[in-house]
Amino acid sequence: MKYYSTNKQAQEATLQEAVVKGLAGDKGLYMPERIKQLPDSFFENIKDLSFQEIALEVAKAFFGEDVEADALKQIVYDTLAFDVPLVHVNDNIYSLELFHGPTLAFKDVGARFMSRLLGYFIKKQGQDKVNVLVATSGDTGSAVANGFLGVPGIHVYVLYPKGKVSPIQECQFTTLGQNITALEIDGVFDDCQALVKSAFMDADLNKYMNLTSANSINVARFLPQAFYYFYAYAQLQKLGLDKNVVICVPSGNFGNITAGLFGKRMGLPISRFIAANNRNDIFFKYLQTGEYNPRPSVQTIANAMDVGAPSNFARILDLYGNSHADICKEISGCTYDDDQIRAAIKKVKDQYGYLLDPHGAVGYNALADMLKPNEVGVFLETAHPAKFKDTVEPIVGPISIPEKLQAFMRGTKQSIELPKDFDSFKKYLLSE
Ligand SMILES: *Cc1c(COP(=O)(O)O)cnc(C)c1O
Repeated sequence: MKYYSTNKQAQEATLQEAVVKGLAGDKGLYMPERIKQLPDSFFENIKDLSFQEIALEVAKAFFGEDVEADALKQIVYDTLAFDVPLVHVNDNIYSLELFHGPTLAFKDVGARFMSRLLGYFIKKQGQDKVNVLVATSGDTGSAVANGFLGVPGIHVYVLYPKGKVSPIQECQFTTLGQNITALEIDGVFDDCQALVKSAFMDADLNKYMNLTSANSINVARFLPQAFYYFYAYAQLQKLGLDKNVVICVPSGNFGNITAGLFGKRMGLPISRFIAANNRNDIFFKYLQTGEYNPRPSVQTIANAMDVGAPSNFARILDLYGNSHADICKEISGCTYDDDQIRAAIKKVKDQYGYLLDPHGAVGYNALADMLKPNEVGVFLETAHPAKFKDTVEPIVGPISIPEKLQAFMRGTKQSIELPKDFDSFKKYLLSE
């Protein structure tokens, strides 16, 4: 299968090229040239299939032409070595818990899949050793570092701003060792991102090192996120609730929801989607006005969604042929401020005994406000609340920390401190 760029200027790429390059040469995002429809028979009895079996069918539709069947099966089964349960919250609202992976957030799925696919290309097709650079303000670094941990032929450099990442997040990528190096940059997140961008543009570095990025624009990170939408539907079917299904996605860069929209194109019977925003409401405004006006992000307590220029918006536009009317037919939007997010966490804990994280709370609010009585709503619970302990505890009181998180916190921090100028960073990389 070929991948084209949303900007339509760059040449089409193979899957391997799209995964290794990340962004197309014209700065567009790669899109698969075809989205295969899965047969009705697949959906009729989907409730009888396991998560891995479902995911493999979806994976074959995208990657089946480019990855050998046995290898693809192993990549999918290995990626999804944890469950994604659907949990009833109240009335017709369900939570799809995406936080049972190694770093307790949904990004585990994409990061694990991408690392294994890249590892496959390195082994099978003689791809040279690859160095992954990733800038993080918290969650992305942990998912990518853990996803790539121990994968032969790949070294990961996680750049993060010194003193600006919570201790829980920091320990998830600084205690790993092996092929993961944490670089503690004396600056803010934007400095880290600027260093990564400069590295990709630097001729010397690219001559000596094979550099790639593992951010959410990579097709190997974003497409596998479609898997759990199908599994959510399977679990609803088991409950006899597979009609008028609405899925609500707490959104920042819009990679997660875009994967769901791809699922719908493949025939998944979802009636509509809701994109739930925090105060960074660029997409919400677009739905209302038809105008897309990116602007600098504002800080909120659902900080993984603090995005002012959602990169996957380009994919959504492309998917709907740039039609605002068609986008509005399938997606609606909502936006909530920090007080409304806190109120949702409190209400849902007090009244229904379910603990939301700040991101899931945005999704819950949108369903509580917009779901019709004849519909069944699922919101994606994108992270475990304990990852946001400092925000959640003042609202609901002490919460327990899962053993998986505690284990990270017992590890020994290893990091290399660097100033924020590019020359020091370049010198460091070349000396490695
Ligand atoms: C990354 C992230 C999001 C936003 O997902 P997008 O794909 O960027 O829209 C939401 N919640 C959590 C916890 C995240 O880490």
